[in-house]
Amino acid sequence: MKKILLVLTSIIITGGITMANELNQPFAKGEINPYSKFFTGTTHLQMLVTKDDIWNSSIGNVTFDAGARTNWHKHSGGQILLVTAGEGRYQEKGKEIQILKAGDVVKIPPNVEHWHGAAPDSEFAHISIEPNLPNNKTTWLEMVTDEEYK
Ligand code: MN
Repeated sequence: MKKILLVLTSIIITGGITMANELNQPFAKGEINPYSKFFTGTTHLQMLVTKDDIWNSSIGNVTFDAGARTNWHKHSGGQILLVTAGEGRYQEKGKEIQILKAGDVVKIPPNVEHWHGAAPDSEFAHISIEPNLPNNKTTWLEMVTDEEYK
């Protein structure tokens, strides 16, 4: 009986920890982001639609740990973000930081300097759509400092 209780207790504890660490999101989290050098903190990337000649789009699921964010950057063909989970942040150069929640759509015009990422205390996930391929080049710029982020 003691043994059974111990096993049950450890299942409940382990389950609780797993749930606390995993963002509930509809798409796969994928692997560590191969573009991590252009980000602050830990992010994951799962490609959903790779560059092609049919839809002229590249679509991926990006998951940010709390506090993680992109560097400042711009897309020559623009970008669309579909927010799927958690709480995030978005800022265009010279404008206020916006709070993002599941269901939000962010339309980023071509060549507008910006960054996107998680809130300081929440994981965050968005689908990133890069349209207008092959004429959509991303230019990576400086890090978003802690002062700019807060
Ligand atoms: Mn972007």
